[in-house]
Amino acid sequence: MTEKLFDDGSLLEFDAVVLSCTEIKKGYEVVLDRSAFFPEGGGQAGDIGTLGGTEVLDTYEKNGEVIHKTKSALEVGARVHGCVNADVRLRRMQNHSGEHLIMGFIHEKLGYENVGFHLGSSEVTLDLNGVISDDDLKECEQKANEAIAKDVPITITYPDSEALSSMQYRSKLEMTENVRIVTIEGIDVCACCAPHLSSTGKIGIVKVLSSESYKGGTRVHILCGLDAFEIFRQRMDTVSQISKLLSSKPEKTAAAVERLLGENNELKRQISDIEKQKAQEIIDGLKNDGRGSFCVFTKGISRDVMREIANKAVLLTDGAAGVFGEEAQGFSYIIASQSVALRAKSKEINGALGGKGGGSDQMIQGSVTADKAAIEEYFKTI
Ligand SMILES: [Zn+2]
Repeated sequence: MTEKLFDDGSLLEFDAVVLSCTEIKKGYEVVLDRSAFFPEGGGQAGDIGTLGGTEVLDTYEKNGEVIHKTKSALEVGARVHGCVNADVRLRRMQNHSGEHLIMGFIHEKLGYENVGFHLGSSEVTLDLNGVISDDDLKECEQKANEAIAKDVPITITYPDSEALSSMQYRSKLEMTENVRIVTIEGIDVCACCAPHLSSTGKIGIVKVLSSESYKGGTRVHILCGLDAFEIFRQRMDTVSQISKLLSSKPEKTAAAVERLLGENNELKRQISDIEKQKAQEIIDGLKNDGRGSFCVFTKGISRDVMREIANKAVLLTDGAAGVFGEEAQGFSYIIASQSVALRAKSKEINGALGGKGGGSDQMIQGSVTADKAAIEEYFKTI
């Protein structure tokens, strides 16, 4: 069985002997006599890196062996040098140790467990089996960051079953043998198989990004360390851009946006009033000589208002009534009728006016490229 060297999360380079190498679908499965590569577990993904000049794409456990999935084959019996990808491993350990840290405070305050932990590269989520208020979450976040500033030691131990039975610790599984205990002194004791940082200072920062109700409890989104710093920088850049656009200080952008939205709503209301007035004028002026098909032309009014006009115009004809709205190129249209089956006729109308669109037998809508004179001429034939 492979000697596991990842207990000490800081060991990233090692030498080992290749015990076996098996070809699989996309690469090779390599087993070594010893390894600092961590196989996925405890919510943390398997390490990547290099081994004897080839890439390690993933690490996982199979029948108690640590399997290194490599790009190329390695010679059995060869002595190889392994290098765990330091940046990826550091970020995972920061997020994972940070999760233990904030969970320690949440567990202490409310007794909740983390019943679903996901550790991705851009998102870390923990699912609590209870509801936590924003204030309580902020308090735990604050305490976690104060513990980072105090640089509290994080230790790994393997207590025997007797010692374990008298210990209070968080655990997802009921285990009695070879239990690996990760302790953040005075804050958290948790059974976990993944490599961790040696002290809380190395976590850098724990930041809660958001939280939401989830399966009767709470899903909390966090990021720690370098990943948290990167998202902080991205968001600061966004706030700076918004602040410039609004000519407002960064801390006053929310108020400025609120003001802008208020102004926008007022303008929308004014436009809608003007539109309604314009529509009423058109409706009041609608006239049709006889009961034949006819059309009216509008400009700068919405489709909803055009539909309103069409509904009134159709009452004045035994044929079809068209409402055409002038666009930058051509016209948008709504055509209504109580006698002509428009759905079947739409192909002909669109063909004659260089348009596209469709709808029901009572009403069709679309756009045309024909000019005003051509439209008027065509309407006499419907
Ligand atoms: Zn853990």
